[in-house]
Amino acid sequence: MGQRSGCQGRSKTLELTLSETMNTEADVQNNEEEAKEPKAKEQRITSVFGVADLKNGAIGLYNVGQTCCLNSVLQVFLMNIHFTGILRRITVPPHAAQQSKNVPYQMLLLLEEMQCGKRKAVSPINLAWCLSGYRVELFVQHDAAQLFLTVWNLIKRQMKKPELVEELSDLYTICVQEHLTCQKCSFETKRNSSMLTLPLPVLDSNSHMLKTLEDCLQYFFQPEELTDHNMCFCEQCERKTPFLQSMKLVHLPQTLTIHLKRFCFKKSAYILKLSHSLPFPQDLDFNAVLTENQCQADDSEKAAWQYELFAVVAHSGSTSCGHYCTYIRSLTECKWYCFNDSEVCQVSWDDVKCTYGHSNLHWGETAYLLIYMKKHPQ
Ligand code: ZN
Repeated sequence: MGQRSGCQGRSKTLELTLSETMNTEADVQNNEEEAKEPKAKEQRITSVFGVADLKNGAIGLYNVGQTCCLNSVLQVFLMNIHFTGILRRITVPPHAAQQSKNVPYQMLLLLEEMQCGKRKAVSPINLAWCLSGYRVELFVQHDAAQLFLTVWNLIKRQMKKPELVEELSDLYTICVQEHLTCQKCSFETKRNSSMLTLPLPVLDSNSHMLKTLEDCLQYFFQPEELTDHNMCFCEQCERKTPFLQSMKLVHLPQTLTIHLKRFCFKKSAYILKLSHSLPFPQDLDFNAVLTENQCQADDSEKAAWQYELFAVVAHSGSTSCGHYCTYIRSLTECKWYCFNDSEVCQVSWDDVKCTYGHSNLHWGETAYLLIYMKKHPQ
């Protein structure tokens, strides 16, 4: 698991995140059904859908073929009222054949079933089958970070309405600016990029463990010298020279997804899970973590960089044999829940803190995705 999201180097991570995103988009574009589908009719679900969010606590999802990873990712989507607010306004595909292949529509049906509130858990089998048509196979242990990107891109591609696509992008997209400066002539290039997750290494360049989430963020935005075999070609010097690479934070979204890169390659194909303790706060202020130099944003943008923790997707077990569950703070009740497939129980913040990890507990639970929400939406 976690193969492509495994390496610890920062410089490569951004490209990886983006190319993964693009690959997924390309997959969807190639889907024939997508191309054949007639112009969407303005059909909307109004009756039973979306009367209220999951107010009556929380509903589990049955494991229907190693779907603990999918279930965890789905709960993070469906417990987010900002996301479900968009999902409810999708156009319903006109034909049954299209409906069964439409990821956002199948998600909406699942949400409706969960909202009926009659059962402690419901089955995500129709959505799981739908996703299996897009190479998200059943009976395979997926990587939660990769699965989040895949599902997100499928939703975006299949939503059709441009205004919803824009809202979905706004809700999740992080904007950064990459700077590359030649150390010989000071020639500088800038490039704007967007990401769906902040892929944070949990080790520094000397393979030392970073101690807190704030340290990981600080390290991620620290300038990096590109020397020796990492040198870049400078247009002005007309040869390969040492460069300084830095990344500045431009914009943070309402729903911010942080990916802790706990899976790393060691010795050929062997993937190691890093389970050391890495505390993360409930309240996170990016202005207190990053320096002025690490930001490229105006005061009103920065004023909104106050976050509180919404969800933790946690992994336990080894890289080859593991299990996912999710801790979510209900936005309507302000209570923490643990979603472990069909089992859902209320938990305390101390229980959530157990996902910080522990060096001596390699099979223990560790946070893998952290989802933060803006305290004061703009
Ligand atoms: Zn130069």
